[in-house]
Amino acid sequence: MVRPQVSVIRMQKIRARPKAPADRNHVQVASNEMTRDINRDVVLGRIRALQPVSRVDLARASGLQPSTVSSIVEQLLHERWICEGAIVKTARGRRPTLLSLNDNLVILAADVRPSHAVVALLDLNGRFLERHLLPLCGDPQRSLKTIVTVMEEIRAKHPGYTFEGVGISLPGRINLSTGQLMMAPNLSWGDFDVKRYLEAALKLEVQLENAANASLLAELWFGRMEGVRNAVLLTISEGLGTGILAEGRLVTGQHGLAGEFGHICMDPAGPVCSCGARGCWEVLASSRAALRYYAELEPDLGSKTILQVMSLALSGDASANKALQQQALCIGRGLHLLNAVLSPDLILIASDMLFPDMYMTIIERECRADLMAGEGPRLVLIGDGEVMRLRGAAAVALRRHSGYYRANQAL
Ligand SMILES: [Zn+2]
Repeated sequence: MVRPQVSVIRMQKIRARPKAPADRNHVQVASNEMTRDINRDVVLGRIRALQPVSRVDLARASGLQPSTVSSIVEQLLHERWICEGAIVKTARGRRPTLLSLNDNLVILAADVRPSHAVVALLDLNGRFLERHLLPLCGDPQRSLKTIVTVMEEIRAKHPGYTFEGVGISLPGRINLSTGQLMMAPNLSWGDFDVKRYLEAALKLEVQLENAANASLLAELWFGRMEGVRNAVLLTISEGLGTGILAEGRLVTGQHGLAGEFGHICMDPAGPVCSCGARGCWEVLASSRAALRYYAELEPDLGSKTILQVMSLALSGDASANKALQQQALCIGRGLHLLNAVLSPDLILIASDMLFPDMYMTIIERECRADLMAGEGPRLVLIGDGEVMRLRGAAAVALRRHSGYYRANQAL
């Protein structure tokens, strides 16, 4: 008899907070801005895919009104995201100027990991112009100083480029309102203000994003996700991360904390996780978990890297194979839960190592086990996690111009 009363109280609470007229106006404005931003993303995406492309072909390919395309193109030219190039003669003698992305606009990106960072220079097409590996220490200020030094060297080497901004992918969650790192159990940087430090040092706008969300943005920006509106991207490395695209929008949740599926309890009696809880999905399915499984089977063989264990498994080592099978089993079981909650069309798996078919088969089998209805999600390995995170970091720097970001900021 208690439950109905609780439910009534909740209803009253919801009714007690009517929307002010200003809120309705805000939503209306946000909705118009969102349409404009989505159209802008469509046009930019078509230019990226078809470049060099004429305005006429662009309007045809985008499905938008020529006047809409024309005004977006003018805006993109003004912002120098695109440039006009070759002139082509047509049968009617008209000479449309072809449009391309501006190769001169570049982004500095860093993929920060617990023990190292990779700093790169990318253009708007996601092409790598430079890439450097740097070791990091546990101290955030010293680690960031190293990153700043390398980024300044890159800038000095390329005086002809326009540096649009800096994007950083981090193994933690970022507070969307303050830009501060909120939770990064594998990094141990506390609440150091990464954004403010880098902006003061580099004099460029800096955007931070969680590694899984960054990888998902990379797929949206540079990848092959056209038409997909519901997807999950799983990153597998020292930890597990998930980025969620629901109905075409990146899910951020309260303060940007959504997506911590890695810390859902799978086994209350399991090992202690870096977050302090026991038996999280991460502590059972990450690369660290695979190394632990291997060490339990071969306690006398010393520490190994995940690539060494994979190489042993591929050369027929039974313990390495068993450790990776156990990891695959746990990855698949977590994906099964995730599918039950979100029912995505697509699950992308970004990992530092490519899981061979024999492990992907286990992951797929567990993910699809006892599906309640439908055919389940498509699982796609997108390979090199580092490339994804760097492209993602670049996409993060670009996303402040993007509908996905503005929509999340506005609503
Ligand atoms: Zn945990």
